[in-house]
This record gives sequence, C-alpha cells and structure tokens, in this order.
Amino acid sequence: MPSTTTDSPTTEPPDDGNRSALLALDPTGLERELAAMSQPRYRVGQILRWVYERGAGSFAEMTDLPLELRDALAGAFDLYESEIVAESRSGDGTLKLLLRWRDGATTECVMIPDGDRRTACISTQVGCPVGCVFCASGLDGLDRQLHAGQIVEQALRVRGICGESRLSNIVFMGLGEPLHNYDATVAAVRAINADWGMNIAARKITISTVGLPKQIERLAGESLQVTLAISLHAPGDALRRQIIPWAESIAIDTLVAAANTYFAETGREVTLEYVLLGGLNDSPQHARQLAAVCKRMRGSVNLIRYNPVAGLPYMRPASEDVVRFQNILRERGVNAHTRKSRGLDIDGACGQLRRRHENR
Ligand code: SAH
Ligand code: SF4
Repeated sequence: MPSTTTDSPTTEPPDDGNRSALLALDPTGLERELAAMSQPRYRVGQILRWVYERGAGSFAEMTDLPLELRDALAGAFDLYESEIVAESRSGDGTLKLLLRWRDGATTECVMIPDGDRRTACISTQVGCPVGCVFCASGLDGLDRQLHAGQIVEQALRVRGICGESRLSNIVFMGLGEPLHNYDATVAAVRAINADWGMNIAARKITISTVGLPKQIERLAGESLQVTLAISLHAPGDALRRQIIPWAESIAIDTLVAAANTYFAETGREVTLEYVLLGGLNDSPQHARQLAAVCKRMRGSVNLIRYNPVAGLPYMRPASEDVVRFQNILRERGVNAHTRKSRGLDIDGACGQLRRRHENR
C-alpha cells in the first residue's frame, strides 16, 4: 500500500567513514559545511563550478583550491560514490550503466541518444515497492531509497558519457517510484535544474510516477515546472488494480483530479503513460475508455510497447494493435504518441540489466 509519509529514514545520505555526500548539498548546505571548516563563502561557488560546470571527478582536480583544502574536502566528503560495474551499448546507440554503491546495492542509469537530443534515464530507489505485475524493477520489492546525491550522481555520470554532445533531457524512469522517495527526488531535481547545478531546463525534466495523488499535489506547489508523467496502464479501476497493486487504494478519478491540480498550478500538461500489454489492456474498447478518461484532463498519451521481461507472462502487442489503439485515441481528439522502443537488445526496460546481473 502507498504510505502517506513518502520518505523512509534511509533517504538521508549515510555518513560513510565520516564522509558525507557532496552531491546531496545545495549551496546553503555547502556553505554551512565550509563555514564549519573555517572557509570563506566564495569557496562555495568555486567548488560548485568544478563539480557541475567542469565535471571534476575528484577534489584533487580542483586546482584553484589550496592543496590543504582539497585534502580536507576529500577527507570530509564523497564526490562520486558509485562504481560502474557493467556497461552495455545497444545497436541504436543507447548506453546503459549498472552502478554499484558502497553497500553493494546496484541501480541502472541510461543514456538515450535521439537526433540532437541526449536523455538520461535515472533511478530513485534500489528496487521498487509498488510491484507492477509486468515490471522487472519491482519483482523483489524495495531494497532501499537512494539519497539526493546518488540521484544527481547518475545524471552526472550520464552527462560524462555524452562526450561533446550536450545532455539535454532527464527522465526519472529508471528503478523505483520517484514520489515514494519525495524529498530526495525533489532535491535532485533542484540540483539538476539550478543554474548553480546542471542547469537543465525544468521542462526538459520528466518525473514519471505510478500516481500518488497527495505527492502530485505537493509537487504542484514546489514552483518547479517539471513535466509530470502518470503511469496509467488501464482505463478503468478494476483492470488497473490487476496491473498495479497500489492502485487498490487510488482511484483513477482521484488521479485525474491530482493531474488537473498539477496543470492548474504549473501550467504544464500532464502525460499519461500507457504500457500496452498484448491481450490485456490493448483492445479497441480499452482505447475508447482511455479516450474518455483523457477528455477529463489536459494532457497527452504516451503509448509504450511492452518490453518483455524474462520469466513474466506478459506479451509485446502486435504492431497493428498499437496503430489501431493510437488511431482510436486520435479520432477522439486525444494527442497520442507511441514511444520508440530503445535499447531493446540490452534489456532496455528498467530493472532488466540489474536483474540479469544479480541472477548470474
Ligand atoms: N515508477 C515510475 C517510474 C519508473 S518506470 C512509474 O512507474 O512511472 C517508468 C516507465 O517504464 C513506467 O511507465 C513503466 O510502466 C514503464 N515500464 C516498466 N517496465 C516496462 C517494460 N518492461 N516495458 C515497457 N515499459 C515498462
Ligand atoms: Fe515500480 Fe514503476 Fe516498475 Fe511499477 S512500473 S514496479 S512503479 S518502477
């Protein structure tokens, strides 16, 4: 069941051998830490520029800081915490990284090139507590939360592999349910968006959620203009509950109301994501019902062809069924797109690379 409190205590960056996570700090937090080390305020800007503008991988590289300070920083903070333990490149250029954190937990992040666009797909949790029946990420439940610094670290790592091309978009569509790790997700969004941080426009940042109404309403009040994508996957409550266990306590009506609040407060139209599962939610009747739901809100539909997961019985729908589904929506005035399947040959869907690795 979705809890009303969004954060478990493990969201806080752990002190690791007395070191804390630098990437979890905003300028105010960093200033406080530096003041405790008797450092002047202007060091904040210097350090943030090294980390976010110049992409420094260690304190040693920050050559305009006194050597003593670089050593003191390395003793007090972790910059990058993860180790890249697997890398797989797909024929279409998609590159997936498996990161291992100090406690041995692994998460995925992905770089998806598309024309001039470079998108980073990042994770917010180790595993996922929701357990949607078709998804590899939730098969073993939630291991732990990632802290804000670990979320930002993934975006920086992906930016690092973009080379000369600029990282342009961020999607929170990796492992986990972002709004179930609310504080860390919002702090990470701020660091990714801020001009002191990665400086990526809010509208190029998408948070994908299974749909937690209270948290969506809270997000609407954060003065962030991020794109919100709600994973609907069914046009009626009964079928949605079969697919998404947490939908048991969340009616589609409540979600539509939350989406409308989000639009009213932010001016941003909400995207409904709909994973098409062959023979389960992809009939013309489902499409007509979905069109009726869409009429009650401002937004568009993103259709996703299911990416089969080993060991699960769900099927990728036939291409003609996808086209028919999309046409029914469009005929009814709904703005509907079908998302390209990327990285299919490298366990493209979230959670699959990690699972394969752990099952070895
Ligand atoms: N927990 C959030 C974000 C992570 S999942 C959410 O559910 O929205 C991001 C998107 O990938 C969701 O829409 C999810 O339904 C979809 N997804 C997960 N596994 C998939 C698979 N095997 N094939 C296609 N889409 C999948
Ligand atoms: Fe969790 Fe999203 Fe996967 Fe559902 S689809 S189990 S909410 S990651």
